[in-house]
Amino acid sequence: MRFDRRIAWLLIVFLVAVSGLQGQSAPVPVADRYKPAADKIIAAALNDNDGYKDLTYLCDHIGNRIAGSDALNHAIQWAAQTMKDKGLANVTTQPVSVPYWIRGHESASLVAPFNRNLHILGLGKSVATPAGGITAEIVAVSSFDELVALGADRVKGKIVVYNEPWKDYGDASQYRTRGASRASALGAVAVLVRSATGLALAQPHTGTLFYDANAPKIPAAALTVEDAGLLARLYAEGAPVKVHLELENRLVDSVPSANVVGELVGSEHPEQVVVLGGHIDSWDVGQGAQDDGSGILASLEAVAILKKLGLQPRRTIRVVFWTNEESGASGAAAYRKAIGDEIKNHVAAIEMDTGAEAPTGIGYGKMGRGANLAIPAAPDPRSVAYVNQIAGLLASIGVTGYVPGGGGTDVEPLTNEGVPGLRPVNVNTHYFDWHHSEADTIDKVDLNDFRKNIATLAVLSYILADTPEVLAGSKE
Ligand SMILES: [Zn+2]
Repeated sequence: MRFDRRIAWLLIVFLVAVSGLQGQSAPVPVADRYKPAADKIIAAALNDNDGYKDLTYLCDHIGNRIAGSDALNHAIQWAAQTMKDKGLANVTTQPVSVPYWIRGHESASLVAPFNRNLHILGLGKSVATPAGGITAEIVAVSSFDELVALGADRVKGKIVVYNEPWKDYGDASQYRTRGASRASALGAVAVLVRSATGLALAQPHTGTLFYDANAPKIPAAALTVEDAGLLARLYAEGAPVKVHLELENRLVDSVPSANVVGELVGSEHPEQVVVLGGHIDSWDVGQGAQDDGSGILASLEAVAILKKLGLQPRRTIRVVFWTNEESGASGAAAYRKAIGDEIKNHVAAIEMDTGAEAPTGIGYGKMGRGANLAIPAAPDPRSVAYVNQIAGLLASIGVTGYVPGGGGTDVEPLTNEGVPGLRPVNVNTHYFDWHHSEADTIDKVDLNDFRKNIATLAVLSYILADTPEVLAGSKE
């Protein structure tokens, strides 16, 4: 009898182990065990005003905060104090060196076949134009294939205008990130890139570019959707179209910055960590409200609510505001370096960096870079079922279940080494209308949608930090 029970127990442990979930708890469903706590958290989050108040302060009083700027340094000090005020433990600023790209005077205009001002924003990390600017004929293309088809003969000495039709951010942003080097490899002298947005409201959207080491660095700027269309139509008429471009940017390679870290320390396994956060830097336009003020302050408020409710999980929840996500992710790399071997104690990494629109799901599993953010990788089915149970606890606020692809840029060094990555997934209706533009301001963040994101992060991080089970890793 005894022997049989031992065999049965071993069988259960074995089944749990091979399924990717580890632990010895009785198999009461997660959803049943955590329903009372989840309901309390949701009720608190839906009435929370503190998180939105913090976000409003960050946006209105500190404003946009590009890596390396005084504004970002101010935000970092303010964030550390805010974490302390909310009762987080072990609040520290973790030093990180970041590039500081400084936008100077910039302008662009059509000079032939007639004069017309063009609306631009230089792309982050772009080199400047020579003194006096560049005046050159353009070639307009709607894809890299068209650029290649033109060939070096027709691209040399020209300004390449990318007028790619909007499909999604992953598709459009590659012209911003890679367009300059692809064009300069064929002899182009500058590029103008249609803004990576689905909404044309005469607003340029900036963002970083990456130069290839083996192509000359040429100046690059984002055009409004309207101006990109104008240039493409004029080019298609066949007569020479000329543009004058001036960018007086400069780049300081390395200035001091910091990640901001604070904890809700676990009651039983303080050394085991669920890391949760977003990025504190933004572009140098708008207020960095959705991208990613909403992510960091929803993360912080999620933990503040757990504290207020007296919900201390068994493991530690660590809130991190990463620096320099936008132009190199050196904050993410510094965090990975700082934790060293402790990465083995990271049981989950949750990142919120797609705005605070109404949440609809929980992203989990291996995340691809670029197109649509998520590349499904068929993660462990038991873990997917577990995520679905957590999502089920959020059904009252519109979260319906698991979505393939979790994590994000700031936790990528962790998920690349096997830490399970998660993220709140939302309706994504307007995020790229505002993203990286002057329009990313506090008025775009809906209070109730923001509260729902706080609820999602709080329930998710609390359960992941408290249950004996852990999710299967992100490494296949
Ligand atoms: Zn972001």
